[in-house]
Amino acid sequence: MRQRASGPEGPDGPGSSPRSAAGSSTGSAQQTQAGRGPVLDAAQLEVLRRYGSEHDVAAGDVLFADGDVNYDLIVVLAGRVRIIERHGQPGETVIATYGPSQFLGEIGLLTGQRVFLSAVASTAGRVLRVPAGQVRVLMAQELGLSELILRTFLLRHSILTGLGSGLTLIGSRFDGGTRRLLEVLARNRLASRWLELEGSPEAEAMLRELDVPVADLPIVVVPGGPLLRNPSSHELLGALGMSGLADTDLPGVCDLLVVGAGPGGLAAAVYGASEGMATILAEDTALGGQAGTSSRIENLLGFPAGLSGEELAARAALQAQKFGVRIKLASKAVSLSSDPGVHHVRFDDGDVITAKSVIIATGARYNRLPLDRLAEFEGVGVYYAATQMEAQACRAGPVAIVGGGNSAGQAALFLSRSSAEVHVIIRGETLDTSMSRYLIDQIERDPRITVTPRTQVTALLGKDQLEGVQLLDTSRQQTSALAVRGLFVFIGARPATGWLAGQLAQDNRGFLLTGTSIPQAQLDDTSRMPLFLETSRPGVFAVGDVRSGSVKRAATAIGEGSMAVRLVFERLQATGSAVADPPRAGGTGRRADPSGGDTRRFPAASSPSAP
Ligand SMILES: Cc1cc2nc3c(=O)[nH]c(=O)nc-3n(C[C@H](O)[C@H](O)[C@H](O)COP(=O)(O)OP(=O)(O)OC[C@H]3O[C@@H](n4cnc5c(N)ncnc54)[C@H](O)[C@@H]3O)c2cc1C
Repeated sequence: MRQRASGPEGPDGPGSSPRSAAGSSTGSAQQTQAGRGPVLDAAQLEVLRRYGSEHDVAAGDVLFADGDVNYDLIVVLAGRVRIIERHGQPGETVIATYGPSQFLGEIGLLTGQRVFLSAVASTAGRVLRVPAGQVRVLMAQELGLSELILRTFLLRHSILTGLGSGLTLIGSRFDGGTRRLLEVLARNRLASRWLELEGSPEAEAMLRELDVPVADLPIVVVPGGPLLRNPSSHELLGALGMSGLADTDLPGVCDLLVVGAGPGGLAAAVYGASEGMATILAEDTALGGQAGTSSRIENLLGFPAGLSGEELAARAALQAQKFGVRIKLASKAVSLSSDPGVHHVRFDDGDVITAKSVIIATGARYNRLPLDRLAEFEGVGVYYAATQMEAQACRAGPVAIVGGGNSAGQAALFLSRSSAEVHVIIRGETLDTSMSRYLIDQIERDPRITVTPRTQVTALLGKDQLEGVQLLDTSRQQTSALAVRGLFVFIGARPATGWLAGQLAQDNRGFLLTGTSIPQAQLDDTSRMPLFLETSRPGVFAVGDVRSGSVKRAATAIGEGSMAVRLVFERLQATGSAVADPPRAGGTGRRADPSGGDTRRFPAASSPSAP
């Protein structure tokens, strides 16, 4: 760690889109990296053979193509197969080449995302094809292989994200729609590139080619798929095949509706479904919640080397898929109403889901700095998460982080891997009072990180893009300028409870009260005591960060989400509408029956059998 020594520096020059930073060429280093993948041994190939079928291929055969709705897991048995971007179009790029005993694919194969690359045999050979449905079965049944495939897919996804492969967003940085879409792409961890309208000849050329007037921007170009004009997040995810539950597929009354898919909601949904409850999980932005924006969660039990938010979300989604949770993505809950024995949650897409019980896990939303021009730079210089997407956007330039909590500490350590200068700006004297010791120790050892105490950010500097921030040293009342490409804000959060319109008892900061902390006068039904995680309305529970008095941590949210399911059973039994036996200590391990009308995002693999 360095103390801030130097004075203000000049801005770092104009930037470009993440794609241009990464380079769009067939750069051999990138290609080699992207092409690297595990070579399966004979025993692993034998296992995979049980789930798929073998086929001969000729040179030039297209094994899957961009725009396909989904694709098989392909294992090369003989010959070579290339992964190609923009196959058969100008700017065709070879991303990777795979040889015998290597498999193709990235995380989109599991999330159901529409294909954005093509696989083409470059020589004659033989391949093993495992259909996507069977891959999900395999992921649930074959522990070793499932771990290998998941890790490889995540690594490839992060390489593709670095390369700017996938979707193309064209829009102006001054347009709110562009910034909103950047947020949707980042939070859903969708591989993409952004072509800024301003000063990007490539953007202009593409608009000419597509015959799209500037008035129609922002647009999202889905490889091999539709061109989307200023899509809502629901439309975007729907076009990618990722929005989940179809409108026509809403059940009459489900057992459990979980609102919010952060760690708390994911845990509740997985546990509820695993105990046999018909469970729907609804999420506004992206699976993983706040934890999904974390570069590395180091204090989650069982992961001594830490776990990225992306990996946590991917693993939890797989579990949800395994137990038959039905996921409704890009759906914001806008109201709650209740009738005897049932609750109705209305969503911004007009859907209403009726459930015997509701677990609210809507967590908290980041606080924003009270600065002029903030909206202008949000998503394009000012960020509330530090993942590879944001690091890429800062293009290794200096960055500043506001806040002294653990989130800020993690972000500093993560960003110091790619930025030579990371400034942590705190109002207080020291990090000691707000950050865990293990993070402070690492920060102190990192020469790229400078902690600037007793300081506030008072203005954002830059004409068309963020070039720096103005700082106020509050002890000396002196201002200075600091050149940065990115400002990362981690200054706490407020609960996402606005949609409840004050119907449920809250504390004075808006967090939901549960159990005995609810004043008697605020109970909807004074004849019975609320259970530990139950809100003032019987049958409606709250878990994780949204709950008053909860420890704001991923593990706590996961614990509360799991525990709430037991309480849901208790309440349902008390009201005579139990759906199944309550979870016993040690768990029943029963799973939802996945059969029947399965249009959920992840077809369930709960009664899987290898072919
Ligand atoms: C950058 C960062 C790093 C962190 N690092 C750590 C760490 O290392 N260790 C640790 O223990 N904790 C960490 N935390 C804290 C941890 O992530 C949170 O405590 C945890 O995510 C809380 O989980 P949750 O499920 O209660 O809520 P959240 O994670 O906040 O999830 C709530 C979800 O509900 C959705 N939602 C909100 N409103 C609606 C609505 N109306 N309709 C539908 N959906 C809605 C949101 O989009 C969100 O996905 C970190 C947090 C951040 C921001």
